[in-house]
Amino acid sequence: MATSPVSGACLCGAVRFEIETPTLFSAHCHCSMCRRAHGAGFVTWIGVPYERFRVRAGEDRLVRYRSSDHGTRSFCGTCGSSLFCESTNHPGYLDIVLANLDPTVDAPPQAHFYFDDRVPWVAIADELPRFGGPTGTEPR
Ligand SMILES: [Zn+2]
Ligand SMILES: [Zn+2]
Repeated sequence: MATSPVSGACLCGAVRFEIETPTLFSAHCHCSMCRRAHGAGFVTWIGVPYERFRVRAGEDRLVRYRSSDHGTRSFCGTCGSSLFCESTNHPGYLDIVLANLDPTVDAPPQAHFYFDDRVPWVAIADELPRFGGPTGTEPR
């Protein structure tokens, strides 16, 4: 199935990238690392296979931070936008912040992960499935 690419960028525009849909998943993450990395109540990620992802500009501006044994987060060294998360737990795809993509991207969120770790000041009123527990992925 041929699809047209969807473009994404950081706040300052130095880092530009492109994905092709369909994405593997789209989900909200409430874990404390995502909250701190993004300065947000929760973060919405999409999973994209590496073969459907390209950095078009600013590869040299990407700063990588190893946030856990298995995870490395990338952000723009100029403006600080959090962009990608890669994990040795899933070498076939990377996580990309949905908010940095062109809003026309067809990737509606499907679930909440690490729901038990959510902050009390964010009201979640949707009907999406919720997962939590120590792994963040156990049904709630
Ligand atoms: Zn930037
Ligand atoms: Zn997270």
